[in-house]
Amino acid sequence: MADCELCGVARPTLCPVKVKDLSVIAAYPGGTWRGINEECLNRCHEANIDRTPIKAKKCDLCGTRNVPLFQVKIQIPIFQEPYQRDANKAMCESCFEACEDTIKRREAEKQESHHL
Ligand SMILES: [Zn+2]
Ligand SMILES: [Zn+2]
Repeated sequence: MADCELCGVARPTLCPVKVKDLSVIAAYPGGTWRGINEECLNRCHEANIDRTPIKAKKCDLCGTRNVPLFQVKIQIPIFQEPYQRDANKAMCESCFEACEDTIKRREAEKQESHHL
């Protein structure tokens, strides 16, 4: 099991998103992988379309500071009614692009398995 980097939900498999974490970019110039679950991936996709600016210090996915950030509305499961709560996360443009890449890659994989 692994925890989603955005909502913290544990899942057997997560969607890998390749982000540019500037704090380790020297060691990993090609980017580093972050795991998020499918729900959050879809929320990132919606947020990428809406592009609602949010005031935050850093991107919640890659940790980059001093870049334009956008609001991502996610739902965090809780153990009492109503069993989930809304939370806002901040994400940068490069992470949005990374999410879109992941979505495209997943769709391509689905197509391939369809043809087999
Ligand atoms: Zn999540
Ligand atoms: Zn980011």
